Amino acid sequence: MSGISCFAEFKGQDEALGMLRQYLKSSRMPSGLIFCGPEGVGKKTAAVLTAKALNCLPAANEPCGQCASCLKIEKGEHPDVHLIENDQDAVKSDDIRALRREIFLKPYEGRKRVFIIDNAHKLTAEAANSILKVLEEPPEGSIIILVTSCPSRLLKTVLSRCQSVRFRRLAAPVLEALLRDSHGVDAQTAGFLSSFSCGSPGAALKMQRRKIVEERDRAVDYFLGKGPDISAGLKEREDAKAAMTAMAAWLRDVILLKTGAPESRLVNYDRRRDAADCGARYTTAELLKAFRSLADSLLFLEQNANVKLLVSGLRMESCIK
Ligand SMILES: [Zn+2]
Repeated sequence: MSGISCFAEFKGQDEALGMLRQYLKSSRMPSGLIFCGPEGVGKKTAAVLTAKALNCLPAANEPCGQCASCLKIEKGEHPDVHLIENDQDAVKSDDIRALRREIFLKPYEGRKRVFIIDNAHKLTAEAANSILKVLEEPPEGSIIILVTSCPSRLLKTVLSRCQSVRFRRLAAPVLEALLRDSHGVDAQTAGFLSSFSCGSPGAALKMQRRKIVEERDRAVDYFLGKGPDISAGLKEREDAKAAMTAMAAWLRDVILLKTGAPESRLVNYDRRRDAADCGARYTTAELLKAFRSLADSLLFLEQNANVKLLVSGLRMESCIK
């Protein structure tokens, strides 16, 4: 599912892993778990690893990643491990009804049946109540793992019946090393992505696939009036958002440098020279005005403004007028 097959490969979440290891070792795994934390930090991956650990054939409280059970789970083919995911607006009620039917059955071939519900905050009220009923009288051989970036949107009664395991953003050096060593990202790009993605490996890898560094360079050069118009090439709202976010992150660096922050705090460390040049050319007030203008444009973008029109007006010179 994720390419990460054992705990040792799952980096940067020592606290969460420590808690899971404790549960696994003590054989007192709660019947309801909530894996919460920001998007893209590995919550779902950890849920799958937990399912593997609970069913791994060598049974050493850790997933080996290689036995028949671990491999089946990795491929999504294990009859006792169910991943219910939905990227749409709501987790499907049908899936939850099936869960209610199935969760009371004994494991077919593993030791524990594991039901992972991704984006659990998107459960419909009916589905959330179904889950609650299960959690009130949890079946012995099954556990439910609710994965969510918005635990506050879960029912309080559901929250109170589960143990929360918190996942955090990765520190920039940890993420940088992970991108370099496990994903073959070159050092310069890894350095940029580790800051720009705010500690989310999922977001960083998505950006890597989009070739975000080239996108950033085109956006910043355009913003400075040094590069060609990028507005015509923006196919989707997402492209415009990425370009504008890159401009804003770079401008933030300019302001940081101008106000005396160390270069190590820059997101766009590789472009620190032209950030310093830009800082020398404009006053702090002008830079802040341009930053506000970018922030406003990002808001307009959320409100469905015309993408091309919006971006074609975004030049440093027009923002400070
Ligand atoms: Zn195994």
